[in-house]
Amino acid sequence: MATALIIGAGGVGRVVAHKCVMNNHIFDRIILASRSIGRCEEIQSELPAGSLEITTVDADNTEEVIALINKYNPAILINVALPYQDLAIMDACIATKTPYLDTANYEHPDEAKFEYKLQWERDAAFKEAGIMGLLGSGFDPGATNVFCAYAQKHYFDEIHTIDILDCNAGDHGYPFATNFNPEINLREVSAKGRYWEDGKWIETAPMEIMQVWDYPEVGPKDSYLLYHEEMESLVKHIKGLKRIRFFMTFGQSYLTHMKCLENVGMLGIEPVEHQGMKIVPIEFLKTLLPDPASLGPRTKGKTNIGIVAEGLKDGKKRKIYIYQVKDHEECYAEVKSQGVSYTTGVPAVIGAKLMVQGIWNGQGVFNMEQLDPDPFMDEMNTQGLPWNVIEMEC
Ligand code: NDP
Repeated sequence: MATALIIGAGGVGRVVAHKCVMNNHIFDRIILASRSIGRCEEIQSELPAGSLEITTVDADNTEEVIALINKYNPAILINVALPYQDLAIMDACIATKTPYLDTANYEHPDEAKFEYKLQWERDAAFKEAGIMGLLGSGFDPGATNVFCAYAQKHYFDEIHTIDILDCNAGDHGYPFATNFNPEINLREVSAKGRYWEDGKWIETAPMEIMQVWDYPEVGPKDSYLLYHEEMESLVKHIKGLKRIRFFMTFGQSYLTHMKCLENVGMLGIEPVEHQGMKIVPIEFLKTLLPDPASLGPRTKGKTNIGIVAEGLKDGKKRKIYIYQVKDHEECYAEVKSQGVSYTTGVPAVIGAKLMVQGIWNGQGVFNMEQLDPDPFMDEMNTQGLPWNVIEMEC
């Protein structure tokens, strides 16, 4: 039995709180802490009385997080606040010797750039504190890294290429909205594309490379090459890899809206002067757009996220597609959230469960593909994210 301290009461935090309560044979005490209490109260009201405790914290402030940890003494801290808070929370975990898990890599609020460097640099401090830090335990990063490790363990002697394929075919009925935090989402999508080949990163213009991929249970969709954070760790950990790319689906209307907002400067991250006030355009845009949490009851359709790996097994070429399909309405019925938050929050809870059970253990900072994929894949099947593997023609 373990105490779980969740930080961040957004779309993903809601799913994590619900799923931890569903796993209360593992997590006997669950605390949800966030910047403002309102969201925490909303989530608490959806759950059985007494199953979730709530409080506030400013997770940009390491000392506040240390005080929070000391108050509850959790067996695990699940960080589902924003990527900006990762380092402050990791430092609080080091100071208190508390196991740590997150779903997104650190991003500096003023730099629109995300990378593992500063988190990996804390490996020695995690080792010294004798604790485990699990990085990127969402879907992508997260389940996709585990799919790669699973392919490597069971299907290949060598993997040569990986394409990660992320399709959200959900329809929320709004002309334009983002499925998770708009600032994080739009910064990711409007950035230059990048993939890795023959030991080098190759940069592309935003949305320069497109392929149509036929997603099982969804159908063919335009899929655009983006940079995505899990590639940074996978190129280190998958043996023999020659190329890795990441593709995400976007409809034409989404892209036209985004281009227009970008052209008028609404995606800017530098403050601009407006009637004597400083405003950051993308933060103001966030205020105007629908709250991702409000999309839950209106979203219909499915997500399909997976990986296609090609390589060699016993000297023969092989191509494998591992994917997971989730229905948005099914997610809402279960945890009052749409599929994007669901597919992120459930892997966070699975990672936390494996850590507190000691099934995934270690000292230092880990990416998902460094751990045995089998128990995670088994948990996905029972926690609401069943997956498929198909053998494809090479
Ligand atoms: P939201 O914006 O919906 O929620 C973020 C929450 O964090 C909000 O409740 C917010 O509080 C809280 N928060 C923000 N700043 C602080 C702070 N300084 N101290 C305490 N709490 C704070 O985001 P999501 O739930 O959509 O995303 C959560 C995380 O999951 C993000 O890091 C995101 O990048 C990641 N993610 C990962 C994916 C994956 O597959 N790996 C996919 C999707 C998301 P308030 O309510 O006051 O604003």
